[in-house]
Amino acid sequence: MAFECDKCGLCCKNIRFSSLSAELDRGDGVCKHLTEENLCEIYSERPIFCNVEAYYDKNLSETMSREEFYKMNKSVCERLKKGNL
Ligand code: SF4
Ligand code: SF4
Repeated sequence: MAFECDKCGLCCKNIRFSSLSAELDRGDGVCKHLTEENLCEIYSERPIFCNVEAYYDKNLSETMSREEFYKMNKSVCERLKKGNL
């Protein structure tokens, strides 16, 4: 089961919440790899922090269920959409 992302780009536009913000922030809170079309220009090589499936497989598969981790991520997406983060 893949994580459902509607490609709104809000996580990439709020990079201050990322542990990689110092590396990715282009200076205004937006990731330097986000294109004008709202796509990741390094998608196939994006950091694992940006890859929900790979992050779960590498770090959390023995700690929580995949569904639980997806749900946690989805709740962050929803809070970003509501401007509540
Ligand atoms: S905020 Fe959530 S739905 Fe929007 S692009 Fe990021 S992961 Fe996808
Ligand atoms: S590297 Fe790509 S997926 Fe990660 S925050 Fe930047 S634009 Fe988004």
